[in-house]
Amino acid sequence: MSLMRAERALLDERRALTRDEALAIAALPLDELPDLIALAHKVRLRWCGPEVELESLINAKSGGCPEDCAFCSQSAHFRTGVDLYAMLDLDEVLAAARATREAGATQFCIVVAVRGPDERLLTQVLDATEAVRAQTGLEVAVSLGILEPGQAERLAAAGVRRYNHNLETCRALFPSICSTHTWDERVETCRMATAAGMELCCGGILGMGESLEQRVDFAFELAALAPVEVPINLLDPRPGTPLGRTPLLSAREALQAIALFRLILPGAWLRLAGGRERVLGNFRRWACTPARTR
Ligand code: SF4
Repeated sequence: MSLMRAERALLDERRALTRDEALAIAALPLDELPDLIALAHKVRLRWCGPEVELESLINAKSGGCPEDCAFCSQSAHFRTGVDLYAMLDLDEVLAAARATREAGATQFCIVVAVRGPDERLLTQVLDATEAVRAQTGLEVAVSLGILEPGQAERLAAAGVRRYNHNLETCRALFPSICSTHTWDERVETCRMATAAGMELCCGGILGMGESLEQRVDFAFELAALAPVEVPINLLDPRPGTPLGRTPLLSAREALQAIALFRLILPGAWLRLAGGRERVLGNFRRWACTPARTR
């Protein structure tokens, strides 16, 4: 498939690309990258519009996670020197939410480094959600890891608008990244969140050793979950983790992957997240397809 044919499919026929079509675009020579990026930008404007949404997050509990995700400085399995603290109290969360509102953001995301919430943590997050909404009017998103049956419904009932749970990478690569839980457990939590009525924020990290074809597969695996928002992180290797010495993606590879994600997920809000400064450097303005910032 040529870029012209892809443009017709996405803009005139208003449909996403098939896997074969996306693989054909991925195989185009990299000297066509500027045209691919230009197409991604047109798709973003046509499908999502020009708006940018500001969101702020708080790491409400840091470090000591029992899981062994190979990229993650929050894991208790690795010596990374990350800050270690238990769940912040309600006043601290509220202070961060007020600062978020004063900075002009409309979304506030409570992030907790755990495998999944126990009853005590879940209750703290439910209380924090209700207080943030009542006292600031901000929309609340949460990231609490793997959910048990019934927990998603309680979060939705408390007013959580969006659940963030990344697949991190494609199904094929995941077992080499994490041994303490499965890719399917992550997918199951995503399904629980949407079944409970929350919007889904679900993405991952590029540059963990996946092939170009696996990047395309990953984008399609995400698309199957119909996320509203897709965070794209570019691996910024954390010292002390098993991926700590992984070479950075080149800016060209990263830009190509971001543009392919846009063509495969034309209606999703893409959010370029961690690693963008280090990997893209001065090419950051080329990655114009995301419409959300943190
Ligand atoms: S479950 Fe989340 S916080 Fe825990 S090690 Fe994996 S990515 Fe890090």
